[in-house]
Amino acid sequence: MTSPTEELFGGGSATGRLMARLDWPATPLGPVQSWPQSLRAAVRIVLSSRYPMLLLWGDQFTQLYNDAYSALIGDKHPGALGDDVRTTLAEGWDVLAPLIDDAMATGVASWVPALQLLLDRSGYREEAYFSVSHAPARDDDGRTVGVFTVCSEVTEQVVGERRLGLLRDLSVRGDGRTVDVASTCARLVEAIGGHRLDVPFAAIYLREGTALHRVACTGDGPVAAVLPDVVVAGDPAWGLWAAGGGATTEVHGVAQWITLPAGAFDDPVASAVALPLPSAEADQPLGVLVAGVSPSRALDEAYRSFFHLLAQQVAVAVRNARAYEEERRRAEALAELDRVKTSFFTNVSHEFRTPLTLMLGPLTDALADERHPLPPEQRERVDTARRNATRLLTLVNSLLTFSSLEAGRARSQARQVDLPELTAELAGVFRSAVERAGLRLEVDCPPLPRPVALDPANWERIVTNLLSNALKHTFVGRISVGLHAHPTELRLTVADTGIGIAEEEMPRLFERFHRVDGARSRSHEGTGIGLALVGELARLEGGDVRVDSQVGRGSTFTVALPWSALHRGTDDTVVAGDLGDTARAAAQEASGWLVDPVRPEPVEEGSPGTLPDDGRSVRILVADDNADMRAYLARLLTAQGWRVDTVGNGRQALDAIRRNAPDLVLTDVMMPEVDGFALVRTLRGQPDTRALPVVVLSARAGADAAVEGLDLGADDYVVKPFTAADLVARVRATLEGARRRLRAPDAEDGRPEPPRSTPPAGAAPSPAPPATGPAEAAPARTAPDSVRSSTGTAEGASVEVAADPAARAVVPASSEVAPAGGASSSGRVVGPAAVGPSAEGTRRAAPAGAPITVRSPNGHEKASVVDTAWSYPSEAVSASAMRRDVRSSLEALHVHPDVVQDLLVAASEAFNNAVEHAQQPTRPEVRVRLQVGAGTARLTVRDFGAWRDRRSAMDRGRGATLMNAFGDVRLMSTASGTTVTIERRLTDDHS
Ligand code: ADP
Repeated sequence: MTSPTEELFGGGSATGRLMARLDWPATPLGPVQSWPQSLRAAVRIVLSSRYPMLLLWGDQFTQLYNDAYSALIGDKHPGALGDDVRTTLAEGWDVLAPLIDDAMATGVASWVPALQLLLDRSGYREEAYFSVSHAPARDDDGRTVGVFTVCSEVTEQVVGERRLGLLRDLSVRGDGRTVDVASTCARLVEAIGGHRLDVPFAAIYLREGTALHRVACTGDGPVAAVLPDVVVAGDPAWGLWAAGGGATTEVHGVAQWITLPAGAFDDPVASAVALPLPSAEADQPLGVLVAGVSPSRALDEAYRSFFHLLAQQVAVAVRNARAYEEERRRAEALAELDRVKTSFFTNVSHEFRTPLTLMLGPLTDALADERHPLPPEQRERVDTARRNATRLLTLVNSLLTFSSLEAGRARSQARQVDLPELTAELAGVFRSAVERAGLRLEVDCPPLPRPVALDPANWERIVTNLLSNALKHTFVGRISVGLHAHPTELRLTVADTGIGIAEEEMPRLFERFHRVDGARSRSHEGTGIGLALVGELARLEGGDVRVDSQVGRGSTFTVALPWSALHRGTDDTVVAGDLGDTARAAAQEASGWLVDPVRPEPVEEGSPGTLPDDGRSVRILVADDNADMRAYLARLLTAQGWRVDTVGNGRQALDAIRRNAPDLVLTDVMMPEVDGFALVRTLRGQPDTRALPVVVLSARAGADAAVEGLDLGADDYVVKPFTAADLVARVRATLEGARRRLRAPDAEDGRPEPPRSTPPAGAAPSPAPPATGPAEAAPARTAPDSVRSSTGTAEGASVEVAADPAARAVVPASSEVAPAGGASSSGRVVGPAAVGPSAEGTRRAAPAGAPITVRSPNGHEKASVVDTAWSYPSEAVSASAMRRDVRSSLEALHVHPDVVQDLLVAASEAFNNAVEHAQQPTRPEVRVRLQVGAGTARLTVRDFGAWRDRRSAMDRGRGATLMNAFGDVRLMSTASGTTVTIERRLTDDHS
């Protein structure tokens, strides 16, 4: 038989069993047998519910509850059974009492979705949330004697949502695209500061060099006072250093350092966490986020993962801000560069304008002089000079316009103009050039419905620039110029059926100095200022310019001027200047792009320019895209008795050579379609043109360009401007060299083998151009009898110079003693000394590091060449050994002592940087390589560590100043190491 107690509390629940054993007679409810029916029924309901339920019965609010509820009150259970709720939940009673009283007084059930309760159920004053409903509980007589409380805990949802809110806030406030790193961090902590229930305080530390620096902190007072400003290696404070190394650290005992009331009930903060701010490298966090832990919440799994998300969010914002800062710095640097360029050009332009004007005056007078007319030949020369001086003046004027636009000095000097007539006239100036190019020119400029006023000179430059661009980039079809009135504006359109402009170029098209790389054009000449000027002038006139274009279909440029801008007061003091001059100069220049290949009259046999061997006249093919230059070269070379063919680019040159190979090619470098370097490369790659002598002509002064040209196999490299005598002498020498080669008995086909892509077995590593040379592997000539001074390096790069069969390689005496590099006491030569694949007995193989003088095919001494590499332990003391090695190599080449000194100073700086800045090198060495050739010495210093602060040594300080003062310095830094390249010309002021 079951007792009444067992019958009431039975059912298998743990709480029920506890209730069955409870000493009820000792409670206000008395023995179970005495309980009214209503209480028994209520108890059954509570115990049978799986939802947390609490029954408070009687004056003493005696508690009866089920298993689900027992879980909510933590360690208050089971003490709470049969006890007064006012005792059990004393800390939350002030919140609960009104709700219970209300339910009992009104008899109406209440419901609160998220009631905040202070609970001391787990050993601390916890912030908890419950969804609670109180319903009146009645006795057998229907009197309200207690309450049914149905509740469920929603702490996780409430706190979770609140934390999510903070993360959301952070992602908005920390948007790094609008601010720099410091202000981003300030905004981040400000956002965090608005969520003190979850993060009572926070500070952001970022890594700078080897220390962590505090960049932002919530609040201004007590927290900032106790947190360190800077943390260095090993400092245990606040777990910062450990977190900086990637380990999340919990900090306890915070209350010892700071009393900071926080959380839901203003209890003092007791602990904090130091969290790494993750970066791309796991062991190199960006910095650390220190965050206080709420005293009202346990640091449980959910809280920890919230802190990790917080740190991630902060890191993302910092990284974005850094990227933005970097981008902005780059943009600023570019803008500054633009400004410096413009101001440089302006200064230079001013200097140019006077002499140009003084040149143009007499030249124009000479051409116009009818009393003393120039003989036709002189007229042609003077005309060329005048045309090009005019071109230069136009360029100079454009640059000056830019600078006055920039300085806000430029004004539009508006006058009433018959714009349709002016526009049609300007277009007409181009008619003959357009038609000679095989294109149609359509001009449609009907009368306008109202008068307009604008600056005609500006208009002329706008129309001229657009037209000459159209002509430059259009090869079939037409160019149309239109001027039409629209309801709100006047529109000038210049449309062509040319190559069109790619979508991705559009945003930068009107930027100063911007040019489209590789665009097909009639001329390679251009500065990238034409469209920028059109844009700025259109704006100066109150309008704007836009472009519609489709690749392969053509482009339409539209200059739109609102009518309001065309009704300005006119400046009658302005006299119409030389209107049309700009257009005429541009049209004349454009005509130059159209000149067909010319073949001047052949000269008489036996004249001084003939090749005596076979009595045949020498034929030279000139490739240059500038018509005046072509004409000038043709005149110059024909005057020597040579026959000259001219073409406008490399492709035409290849066609002409295929049809009828000349004796020598004289080619410009910068040409449309196929440039000079590509031409040389192609010629050297084909068996029948491998031996064809080529002289490269370029405006690109500088050792790199020359090395590139010669590396590709050009016989000589002439820099513009050149003197007529020098050019003729060098062409002649190249021809002589070729002739000797033909005659030389051991000369096989007179030209070395084409390049090999792989070396024969056992041979030296395949030569490659110097590391900083052209990206495309140049077909360096690998003659059977070539002598290589090649020292393999880690990158496998080496310099190779081929000696011509007709001109023996001369190894100076200095190389017969042990080479400087090989004799190095502390350094070791990296890689084996390489010898050409079939060096003959008569030829001496040059050991690595030995200087070699190589003669070029024309017999002129071309360059002293050395290529040596050393490796040193990555220690400051190695610098002196390095200096000794570099010095002796340079001295062996008889390099001027001043140059040696400069290079040594620069090398020392680069070496010190390599030792100092390379962190955790994968190899404890610094490699130094010395390459000398084509009048230039190149020193490369390479380390195998990551530079923490890649800018440090280059952007500031003595090192950078010194290096830059003595040579051209480049720095290439990757994760695996940094290479500093120093270049110095061997001759300049020391001749
Ligand atoms: P430049 O002509 O001196 O190179 P511009 O500022 O006049 O400089 O033009 C910038 C670039 O825009 C040119 O390099 C060219 O590639 C492109 N461009 C200009 N006009 C045209 C056009 N009508 N058709 C195709 N490309 C054009």
